[in-house]
Amino acid sequence: MIPKTEAIVLKSFDYRETSRIVTFFTKEHGKITAVMKGIRKDPRKFGSSVDKYSVNDLVYYHYRRSDLHLVSQCDLKQYFFRVRDDYQRNVTANYALELVNKIMPAEQVNKDVYDLLLQFLDRLQEEKDLERLVNLFQIKMLRYSGFSPHLDSCVRCRRPVQGKVRFSMAGGGLVCPDCPTTETSFTLISRGTVSTIIHFEKESWQDCLRLGLAAKVRAELKYILHNFLEYHLEQPVKSSKFLR
Ligand SMILES: [Zn+2]
Repeated sequence: MIPKTEAIVLKSFDYRETSRIVTFFTKEHGKITAVMKGIRKDPRKFGSSVDKYSVNDLVYYHYRRSDLHLVSQCDLKQYFFRVRDDYQRNVTANYALELVNKIMPAEQVNKDVYDLLLQFLDRLQEEKDLERLVNLFQIKMLRYSGFSPHLDSCVRCRRPVQGKVRFSMAGGGLVCPDCPTTETSFTLISRGTVSTIIHFEKESWQDCLRLGLAAKVRAELKYILHNFLEYHLEQPVKSSKFLR
């Protein structure tokens, strides 16, 4: 089988003397890892240098018995120059690429995640509010990968939540004041933050980018989303420490 697909570079590293191993998130086949033989010996062998922040048209040999496939053709389609050239945009993109790489299982097709990542990189070229863009990406990513937090009732007793609301990382959602907990991984969450998460989950990308966020909501989103993601991934997202 020789699949042909559009693909975003997630990461790459040098392999042996002349090759490179690249992890792509592809539109048609999900996350794949493939070797690009001879690319370092002859940089013009492929029509792309498969840098980060690029979208490519990819053709590869799909090996059934291996997780490592072989690229036969790769042509550059789009390159996010402004993301590459600006330090803060670049670390913000690295966070999103790492998140997609860690959350998505190999070879599981997810066009929502593909479109989200493409939209994110495109917007990142000019966005002024990088923090809000990251929060929006995290919330949509949780939703599209089936990890959405539970926000419409208490995760313990399933009754509607009122009063002093807490967010449980382990429970994956809100906990009402009546449910006792000895868990250390929960934090207070305001109504404003709960409604912002719901808004970001449901509304269109463009509508979400029009929503202004109060300082308190920003602080809560940052803490909760970061910790919630790491709790569920059971590992740190390394590039998050460079985010502002
Ligand atoms: Zn409860």
